[in-house]
Order: sequence, then C-alpha cells, then structure tokens
Amino acid sequence: MKILLTFLLALAAPAFAAEPSPLTATVKLTHIAKDNWRADFEFSEPVEKLELSYTGTSYRQQAWHIRTPGVALQRHGDDELLVASEPVRRLSVDVDLFLPYGEKSYTPMDRYSDGGTDVYLGFFDGRAIVGGKPRPLLIRFALQPLPGEHAVAPPDNPQLPDMYAYFGPRQPIEGAASKLIVDPATPAWAQEVLRTTTDRVSAFYTQSLGRPLVFSPLVMVAMGDLTRPGYSVKGGAIGYQVVYRMEGAQITADTPDGRARLAHVVAHELAHIWQSSVKQGGIGEGPAWVHEGGAEALATAALRDSGIVSAEQSSAMVRKLVEECIALKESTDGYRGTYSCGFKRHVDSGIAPVVLWTRMMNLSEQSGRSYSPTMFEQAARQ
Ligand SMILES: [Zn+2]
Repeated sequence: MKILLTFLLALAAPAFAAEPSPLTATVKLTHIAKDNWRADFEFSEPVEKLELSYTGTSYRQQAWHIRTPGVALQRHGDDELLVASEPVRRLSVDVDLFLPYGEKSYTPMDRYSDGGTDVYLGFFDGRAIVGGKPRPLLIRFALQPLPGEHAVAPPDNPQLPDMYAYFGPRQPIEGAASKLIVDPATPAWAQEVLRTTTDRVSAFYTQSLGRPLVFSPLVMVAMGDLTRPGYSVKGGAIGYQVVYRMEGAQITADTPDGRARLAHVVAHELAHIWQSSVKQGGIGEGPAWVHEGGAEALATAALRDSGIVSAEQSSAMVRKLVEECIALKESTDGYRGTYSCGFKRHVDSGIAPVVLWTRMMNLSEQSGRSYSPTMFEQAARQ
C-alpha cells in the first residue's frame, strides 16, 4: 500500500509543484585591463547564494576575486557557490586571465596573439537561492570592451546554451558558411584549411542531412604557444560557435598530415553543430559514444565525399579509429573509447552515417528525447 501511495503521489506531484519562476539578472562584463575583467551582477531580487554552473575546475578559485563585502566563494565537494552573509542585489567579481584547458568543463578563456580573448560566459551562470528556495537564473550580458577594442557577444537568447564572448581588436569576417575571428598568427595553410573545410563540410552536411542551419556559426581561432614541441588542435562546438585553440611548433609546418588532422577536427566539430540543430532533443545526458562516435562517422564521410582528404587518407583515418577501439577491447567507457568505439559501432551498423543521423535527428526532434543507444538502434533498424 505504501508503495502504491508513493507511486500515486509521484504521479500527482508535477500537477502541484509549480516550477519556480526564473530570477532575472544582468551581468556587465567589463574588460578593465589587458588581463583583467570585472563582472558586475545585478539581480531583480536580493539573493542569498548563487550555486554556480560548470564546477570541478580550479578556475574560479584561482582567477576570481570577490569585491563585494560579505560575499565569499565557497567550495563543497563538487559544488561551487557565492554565499552572501546578507542577501544582495549587486555583486562584483574581478576575473584574471586564465589559460589552462578546461579538463572537466569548458575552457574558461582563450588568448589570441594580438591580445584578443574568448571568455566563456557559462562560468557566470548558475542557480540563485532566494528566501531559501532555488530559482533558475536568466542572465542578460552586457559587454564593455577596452577603449578602441571590439566585443562580440553571443546571440541574446535564453533558449541557447552559454557561449563565449570575444574581446579584442578584431571583428568577425563573413565567410561563405560562417563568420570568423582568426588569430593573425594562424599559419596561412591552417587559415586555408579552416576556411575551405568549414565551407565545404557545411555544404555537405546541409545537403546530406537535409538541414540548412538557421544561423551562421561564429568560428573563433586562437593560437596558443607555438614554441613548445608538438601539434595540438582543440576544438569545441557550443550553441552557435566553434572555438579552436592550436598549439605547438609543428603547427607552423604545412604537411599533408597536419592538414588532414586539422580538417578532421573541423569536420568533427561541425558535425556537433548539426547534431545540435534540432528544435528539441539533441545532445543530452546520454552516453557520449553516440554523439562523439556519430561526429567521427559524419566527419570521415564528409572529408571523403567532399574530396578534402584522399581515399588513402580516409582509409587510414578509419583504420586508425577501428584499431584504437579494438585495442580498447571495444569498450565505450573511457574517454577515447567514446570516439573510437562509438565510431566502430557506426561502422558495424552497416548504415551510412548521413542516413543514420538524418534518422537520429528526426527521431530526437519528434520525441524531444536526447540521443541515446536505444535511439541509435532504432535508427539503424529503420
Ligand atoms: Zn566531439
């Protein structure tokens, strides 16, 4: 009886529990000196605490300095909070430049060789505690660049995920399929690969997935340290943006392998832009192998079919991923397994990646559910 009662209550609960109304806030983010920003929060009601999003990194502990008396940054396990001794309407934080990679979360900032900076706005987001109760926060950002500088804000739309803001000397340049902010230190070969791959792969996904984007992605390319040994290209797709950081001395050399690796990252990140281009559903909490393996499968198809890599380079990419997965004993559990074994599951399905993902996107959009292994199997059987 107790079980039945609990079940009935659970069923009835949503009808009574009204969603708490969001609290509105403005955050004015001012670039105050070359390596310093000031974030001034103004809440529509006094706030006791702010439970911050994107925790688990040392960024805030290292780079944030709270200016408002009585407010402290606290860490409890994986949670990070701004706690006020008395409720506050205003809150001010100084933020230092912080360039380590985000390991468990988004990379907080990227720096361009000309002093330009990408700043991830999600770190200012969170949930407000008002009168002891949690309320979602609806933030409007206002960006104030240094004199003579430009600031580029993401679209002001609360439905979209948190994105990066840009502060610096550049303004976005219109490309065929995107807008670009490119570090002037980017080697010429890399600029060419970034532009042509973005254009051709976007055209390929638009046509083969049957979905033109309703926006032009903003591509942001920052060069890191080009003196240390190695070759590193990190990319991230979020909302309407694709953000890259390239590092290592080998980036300066124009080689077929370097070109193929950069093109692969571009095609992979653009695949995420399309996977997210659904009215509801999309990439959610489900296991990462579905969308990461899917991005690898779409990327290899895009690069091969649009002639960006040779048939030999394409086969080598496929072979490398499959062999990596076999070495991982076909497990999608680890970080690299989500990519290589997620990819191998797409290969093993026997369905062309663009056909499979056209079905996945339709299934997700129709049901409102995010991509999952169940949806993958359903799409493979259709
Ligand atoms: Zn990815």
